[in-house]
Amino acid sequence: MSAKTAKEENIIVPKGWWESLPRKVYSTLERVKTSQPWFEVYKLNAKTWAIYEPYQFEETLSYLVEGDKKAILIDTGDGIGDIKKLAEELTKMPFWVVNTHTHVDHVAQDYMFKEVWCYDGPMAHETEKTGYPNRKTAPMVGPGMTWKPLPKGFDAKKWVVPPYKVTHWMKDGEVIDLGGRKLEIIYTPGHSNDHAALLDRKNRWLWTGDIFYTGGIYTYLPGGDLDQFIKSYERMIKLFPEYDYLMPSHNEPMVPKEVLTTVLEKAKSIRAGKEKKYTEGMDGGEKIRRYQYDNFAIVCFEKQIKD
Ligand SMILES: [Zn+2]
Repeated sequence: MSAKTAKEENIIVPKGWWESLPRKVYSTLERVKTSQPWFEVYKLNAKTWAIYEPYQFEETLSYLVEGDKKAILIDTGDGIGDIKKLAEELTKMPFWVVNTHTHVDHVAQDYMFKEVWCYDGPMAHETEKTGYPNRKTAPMVGPGMTWKPLPKGFDAKKWVVPPYKVTHWMKDGEVIDLGGRKLEIIYTPGHSNDHAALLDRKNRWLWTGDIFYTGGIYTYLPGGDLDQFIKSYERMIKLFPEYDYLMPSHNEPMVPKEVLTTVLEKAKSIRAGKEKKYTEGMDGGEKIRRYQYDNFAIVCFEKQIKD
């Protein structure tokens, strides 16, 4: 997701969205107490934590993933709480940042880290140089976007995402070896052109970043593309024999993989102009459409559709 969505005409941000929280899955997971009240932390197994931001509309999820020797922090969240301090509480291992992609809600605290890995896509090269200005970040805490007090000392008026330094540009098929645990980089454009999924064959998990989560999935944000989105789904589905659960970057972790088949089916049908039920909004002078299904939605530009 992205801060940009805040202004759009209610097809993105439903009123009182937090009233349906908590999501069911969280009652089945082990909650970990930390010093950082902005985050809820859940232990997914002995070496994996989900770092959840339920008080802001995006419900961003970052993950701390340990091997036997070192660890990675998958994304740095939306920048409201202190994710570095939090991760340092959770692991004693040296760790660095690996981004799923570089939209604002995933790289906000990259600047705090010496080592940052991003997929070698066009958008990531831009973002490391520019960061995000206050006009992009501030809407994330605008009216109706949060439902709990912001952390002490947080000033929305001064809030920016500073530029940061990418120390390694990841390629498709590259393997991150954490010692006894390997994660393979799967290039999955469609939501953005610098988007990487991470495959953990040992645990049979796939981190899907923003190419899939339960919620409105966007192909209309900068770097998005519906045709590439469809191709990325075909690729993830081909990899079904390697994993069982999805670890998305928003809303909820541990989603059974089968939903990807339905998303692909619907995305193809939308692309072909066959899905007739949708709501409309505007983004930057262009029409966008939201196609709502049971536990996900696809949001795209009207111009991306053949009808
Ligand atoms: Zn996002």
